[in-house]
Amino acid sequence: MDLRLSGRVAIVGGASKGIGLATARMLAAEGARVVIAARTAATLEAAIASIRADVPGADVVAVPCDMASAADIERLVQTTAERFGAIDIVVNNAGGPPPGTFEQHADDAWLGAFDQNLMSVVRLTRAALPWLQRSDQARVINITSTAVREPIEGLILSNAVRLGTTGLAKTLSKELGPRGITVNNVGPGLTLTGRIRPVLEAQARASGRTFDDVAAERAERIPTGRMGEPEDVAAMIVFLASAQARQVSGQTILVDGGATSASL
Ligand code: NAD
Repeated sequence: MDLRLSGRVAIVGGASKGIGLATARMLAAEGARVVIAARTAATLEAAIASIRADVPGADVVAVPCDMASAADIERLVQTTAERFGAIDIVVNNAGGPPPGTFEQHADDAWLGAFDQNLMSVVRLTRAALPWLQRSDQARVINITSTAVREPIEGLILSNAVRLGTTGLAKTLSKELGPRGITVNNVGPGLTLTGRIRPVLEAQARASGRTFDDVAAERAERIPTGRMGEPEDVAAMIVFLASAQARQVSGQTILVDGGATSASL
């Protein structure tokens, strides 16, 4: 199936590692021109090298950008527009907010999560909008979490702030649909990335078990019997970016191996 991504211009946030990097790699493999954003230039360069190793000749550009910074996001969009003269796809992604319970977080943590995980979606989508509305395959895809369907214990910032993105995306799908722009959310379940590995390693140390034992126990709780890999989430993002997904908008699609119990 030709996803008609060849030559499309995509911005992928939080793309030096994990789900963002896997998404950038997959988009590049489909022939898209990709701008990857993360905070650290050196990590971004390593990401580009790893994409080019898999996709020789990939047209990938790195822009250092803190997704919690309005000025950085403006610069990200400006640099993309100057380099490619178009923006078709925006993948709103950044690191998750820190774990903790209600009483463990003061205002700075709440405001940090708000900036990094909600305002980043507002700001990047808004800055890219003049370009998106010139595209005939315009896509906004926000990476959230299964927490939007079932709150996750010990992750109150994520549980609260990500629902803002859900509401934003549904509203945007109505406002921007007539301009040919689809807006969707992808919610990963447990996915083995650099964010999750240390959590499982810490659980293994604390309980005197091996990493493999802890990982196997977590996998058993997932109906498919396995934890997700970044590529599992990336594949859904790439499909939503494709021409074939033109009728899918305003949705939250979980990639969790069936782990979430909520029916809707
Ligand atoms: P990861 O830690 O592997 O990668 C995160 C990427 O974002 C890295 O490239 C990092 O450098 C970058 N980043 C972090 N903060 C940033 C910022 N402020 N500005 C720019 N770049 C930033 O994480 P991941 O597992 O790929 O997760 C991606 C998103 O999916 C996160 O929001 C995470 O909370 C969410 N999520 C992940 C899982 C999971 O199991 N991995 C589950 C549910 C939700």
